[in-house]
Amino acid sequence: MVECVNQERHGKGMKRFEELQFSNSFARLPDRFYQRLEVTPLQKAHLAVYNQQAAELLDLHPDEAQRDDLHALFNGDKTLPGYEPLAAIYAGHQFGHLTPQLGDGRAILLGEVTNEAGERWELQLKGAGITPYSRRGDGRAVLRSTIREYLCSEAMHGLGIPTTRALLMTGSEEEVYREQIETGAMLLRMAPSHVRFGSFELFYYRREVEPIKQLADYVIEHHYPELLDHETKYLELFRQITLRTAEMIAQWQLVGFAHGVMNTDNMSVLGLTLDYGPFGFLDNYEPGYICNHSDPYGRYAFDQQPAIGGWNLSKLGQALLPILDGEPEKAAATANAILEEYNPRLQQHYHRGMLNKLGLKESRDGDKALIDDLLKLLANNRIDYTLFFRALCDFNEGEERNPLRDQFLDRNGFDSWAGRYRDRLQAEGSQRQARGEQMKQANPKYILRNYLAQQAIEQAEKGDYSEIERLHKLLQHPFDEQPENEHYAAAPPEWSNELEISCSS
Ligand code: AMP
Ligand code: MG
Repeated sequence: MVECVNQERHGKGMKRFEELQFSNSFARLPDRFYQRLEVTPLQKAHLAVYNQQAAELLDLHPDEAQRDDLHALFNGDKTLPGYEPLAAIYAGHQFGHLTPQLGDGRAILLGEVTNEAGERWELQLKGAGITPYSRRGDGRAVLRSTIREYLCSEAMHGLGIPTTRALLMTGSEEEVYREQIETGAMLLRMAPSHVRFGSFELFYYRREVEPIKQLADYVIEHHYPELLDHETKYLELFRQITLRTAEMIAQWQLVGFAHGVMNTDNMSVLGLTLDYGPFGFLDNYEPGYICNHSDPYGRYAFDQQPAIGGWNLSKLGQALLPILDGEPEKAAATANAILEEYNPRLQQHYHRGMLNKLGLKESRDGDKALIDDLLKLLANNRIDYTLFFRALCDFNEGEERNPLRDQFLDRNGFDSWAGRYRDRLQAEGSQRQARGEQMKQANPKYILRNYLAQQAIEQAEKGDYSEIERLHKLLQHPFDEQPENEHYAAAPPEWSNELEISCSS
């Protein structure tokens, strides 16, 4: 029997945590990129939630989910073989202004695990204590913000949007001071890499060219190996990052996601959604929606995200200039030419995504106006973005008047748009049933509205994590009909408008 268990434990999906082989390729870079240090244990820690789905990416045995001692492996008390904990240094443009030196002020990279499929996952602990880059911060993360990141990163994954993942969350009784006293928590998150635009910017503003090259070589070797033999590999790296960023932001716009703090230190060089803070999903369609209460001028408003992505990329491009081949003038011109690819790629991705949301297979003249006019109608009539598109999946072109019209104050406006939509569907011979099925794969039924996260937080603060588990399960399949969970797809309650989410985390 023992033998049998041992056998089972080997091979794919059969490891215990203690059997993970950690390495740390980032630690092979020179030490100017990071500081080695230890995790500061959270007092009276306990395991709060564990993500079986993410654990599978590390080939962990399903039984690991039954362990209640996992927090101890990630609380600085114990180490696993191969750990090389470190905090990375970077810079960043915060709300448009350069901060020449930032860094992991409360996150510690423990190491990386390569799974059976050859995928490499960095494990990073957020809220792990003071680092040399903590500035005036305490190195901690509160339970509230940790739950928000846990749920949202997994919700984004469920929506098919590139993102960091969340493996487990530790709660504690340690007091952490924000606007009020809260408790500290830690999130063990995973990504192939946590390198940011700001990681390059740091050395650019220090006028150190060699490290820019070392970091670019590192990113190419581990994450863009197809560029290794490319003649102009650094330029090509910039192009790949530009295109991935464009596609990621197009996806944000399609689901109505506002990140909230698109500083360049929160922008991943892999085009992953990174560093969840005061994010928000649109309820009513409101282009100028500002989810971050600490952003009074709306620099990071929902409709600003595409332009800000381009602005951030221009800062990355600038930081890469010293290593681009050729005369400075020529390098700037070629980098600029790449930046010019950003907007068309984003628009193209967004447009295709919108056609999918509308159930349109072909692309025809006039589609852009059809989309723009619909969005204007939604904005003017304060219509819930997610609910509207999900209801549109059942649009019946045979009906004279679509029942959706009743949601609009401007019913004639809706009727006239619906007439155009009907004609457009008929023009491509759209089949109602097949279209509806396909549209449901493009229009989520369930999203992580702020009030849902808030309910899970309030329960967790009383020691009950079950709502986090329920939401997590729900949001793994946001496109599926889940009759038992119908209430999660309802319009948000009145009180959700009062929720204020700030940068404080
Ligand atoms: P953010 O805007 O949340 O990405 O944070 C910006 C910078 O501040 C990052 O370098 C963080 O590591 C750092 N930071 C945020 N909160 C804390 C904290 N409580 N303690 C130390 N550093 C922090
Ligand atoms: Mg950050």
